[in-house]
Amino acid sequence: MNISDQSQVEIFKNYVNNSQNIVIVPHNNPDGDALGASLGLLNTLKNMGKSVTVISPNEFPDFLNWMHGVNDVLIFDKQLLKANQLIEGSDLIVFLDFNALSRIKLMQPLFEKDTTPRVMIDHHPFPEEDTAQVQISVPEASSTCELLYHVLSLSGFKQSITKEAAECIYAGIMTDTGALNYNSSRPQTYHIVAELLEMGIDKENIHQNLFHNNSFDRMRLLGHALGVKMQRLPEQKAAYIDLSKEELHQFNFKPGDTEGFVNQALWIEGVQMSAFFTEKNNLVKISFRSRNGFPANAFSEKYFGGGGHFNAAGGESKLSLTETVERFKVVLKEFCDENGF
Ligand code: 5GP
Ligand code: MN
Repeated sequence: MNISDQSQVEIFKNYVNNSQNIVIVPHNNPDGDALGASLGLLNTLKNMGKSVTVISPNEFPDFLNWMHGVNDVLIFDKQLLKANQLIEGSDLIVFLDFNALSRIKLMQPLFEKDTTPRVMIDHHPFPEEDTAQVQISVPEASSTCELLYHVLSLSGFKQSITKEAAECIYAGIMTDTGALNYNSSRPQTYHIVAELLEMGIDKENIHQNLFHNNSFDRMRLLGHALGVKMQRLPEQKAAYIDLSKEELHQFNFKPGDTEGFVNQALWIEGVQMSAFFTEKNNLVKISFRSRNGFPANAFSEKYFGGGGHFNAAGGESKLSLTETVERFKVVLKEFCDENGF
């Protein structure tokens, strides 16, 4: 893995060695990679005798609640006061799995003027300058968890990675690579996975927890999404699903329940891009996935103020759900016509 500026790792190492109170922050709506990296690092640093807290901007999905240390994660939008105190009293802050302050939503203002040393470790392309003093950004890494393992190794902290930390790091690699399905996993990913297995992690149990432990409601919601809601746009080689607040409510929606739905629409023969729309309180959250050269991140950035990876991106819309879907159809046609897709 090519970390273009190794001196950044050296500074991270010195920061860690010279800090006692460390706060770790994943992105808003943390996924397996964001929370896996956060708890992987937390468990490692705790083993080194540090006082460490993970502060998540908002709630994380239930399917991650088996991770070691998860019960002590502070949820910023519910525990504002405590979170603020911890950030004020910290001597190092680590940002994981995001590359722009806007990705931590409600927490963003806290860091606009804060001068506590900050390190960002992330694999999203096009990091925003000044997100942190130290920015370890490697878009070729399959996941932030893979990159974190590499950074910990280069820093000489590998022997402090506990089995519990290894489980979290493995989980993040699996969720971001689709269990090693995508080409984002390279030979080096497998070397790291092998080392994690050597630490004694129970791979089967982790896969059960991550992928094979669905609630009855979630499976029924998936049935509804695929059977009733999924639409095709054959000219644009696209498919999409939209779910309203009422539909989510009907199936007792919990955070994480729609994880992976967007992939189901992509996995149709002939489909090169898929979109998934969910109606939230005052906005529509959108996920995009693609294959065969369609740039999901460029599309999302151009029309939906979002970004992400080439084949997996996200964005938002302030229009109503129906209006958002209508606009999507129009701009997708425009984008495909302009770019020859
Ligand atoms: P997901 O569809 O799973 O929410 O996100 C897919 C990818 O796009 C992830 O890497 C995520 O970090 C990124 N992403 C999701 N939503 C947004 C967004 O609103 N803005 C940006 N810049 N990236 C996003
Ligand atoms: Mn990630």
